[in-house]
Amino acid sequence: MPNYNRADLAFEHGEGAYLFDTAGRRYLDFGAGIATSSLGHAHPHLSAAIAEQAGRVIHVSNLYRIPQAERLAQRFVDASFADSVLFCNSGAEANEGLVKAMRKTMSDAGAPERYRIISFEGAFHGRTLAMLAATGNPKYLAGFGPEVDGFDHVPFNNLNALKAAITPQTAGILIEPVQGEGGVRPAQLQFLRDLRATCDEFGILLGLDEVQCGMGRTGKLFAHEWAGITPDVISIAKGIAGGFPMGAVLAKEKVAKALVPGSHGTTFGGSPLACAAANAVLDVLLAPGFLGDVQATGEYLWQGLEALALRHPQIFTGVRGAGLLVGLKCAIPNGQIQDTAIAEGLLTVAAGDNVLRLAPPLIIGRAECDEALALLGRAASRLTPAVTLEAAK
Ligand SMILES: *Cc1c(COP(=O)(O)O)cnc(C)c1O
Repeated sequence: MPNYNRADLAFEHGEGAYLFDTAGRRYLDFGAGIATSSLGHAHPHLSAAIAEQAGRVIHVSNLYRIPQAERLAQRFVDASFADSVLFCNSGAEANEGLVKAMRKTMSDAGAPERYRIISFEGAFHGRTLAMLAATGNPKYLAGFGPEVDGFDHVPFNNLNALKAAITPQTAGILIEPVQGEGGVRPAQLQFLRDLRATCDEFGILLGLDEVQCGMGRTGKLFAHEWAGITPDVISIAKGIAGGFPMGAVLAKEKVAKALVPGSHGTTFGGSPLACAAANAVLDVLLAPGFLGDVQATGEYLWQGLEALALRHPQIFTGVRGAGLLVGLKCAIPNGQIQDTAIAEGLLTVAAGDNVLRLAPPLIIGRAECDEALALLGRAASRLTPAVTLEAAK
């Protein structure tokens, strides 16, 4: 179906942070399949884990115990705020599970009228009917019939607006600690702390969409750790299994216990194969020093990008984000820079608010950063004469 705007590129194989197209041309992949191929391409440990599990058993369904899922859930519990984990297949599905768990928690507590969720302008929570409503972007909603009820929107990073939107029908809040699709906009850490305090004050739940910013992307396993807060429930996906499709909901017991047998489910979620992939990703992410390296690499890239933006003020006007989720605010249409970068051999992802998003595999080092900076510099130089000409007209 014609629902995607694909670049005319097809990749034959990958290795680390590089992809090779069918003509053999090499690209440095600073998009990672939209912040998803967290270990890069053809990572030996991940590829071997998937191959090994595929040779034993791929799928059994949730009618049975799944040792790979039990191990994975225990590792998430040990490494996070969570008491309990639900596995599913995508980010949107994780958010659906998160919202269902929040609503059911309120209903079980004797307040079924508390079903509404407050989300934020500039958010992205997925493409299912309910997550379109949570996202609230008129462009995505258009033509798909009545908006699913139960979502209210307030400006990002604005505590007064948030407090004013809380009603006796509010179940909780859903926020991305770093808005990804919306333009790589981080929530202020103090804002996240204020949200925690506000949820406690009003007796509502704090839900975080860490689908894009979780799983090590910001240099901590989960982005909310930077604020030092304890959420009630979070959704994760994208990087969780290194590119194998998977999502998860991590929750405190008071939320998790609402999803009793029969209340929610999935055929594919948490299969032996998906969990083998995610366990292999965790082996790498939780190895001593790995997340510290992500932080250091992120800082190095950030410094280079700030210098780049200063050298090319007609192209880039600023840098924002966290860790290895970085946005370059563009002075010309971001798609034009994205296309020129492809011509130079660099893959990036456009984001909202005219931002060029860099979300490289977490395994990169300074050499890949230097190369990306050089390629972006060349793309910017190629675009500068055009801008200057345009301005002279
Ligand atoms: C990508 C994304 C989603 C949706 O995930 P899918 O796997 O595409 O359904 C939800 N929330 C955030 C923050 C995302 O970045």
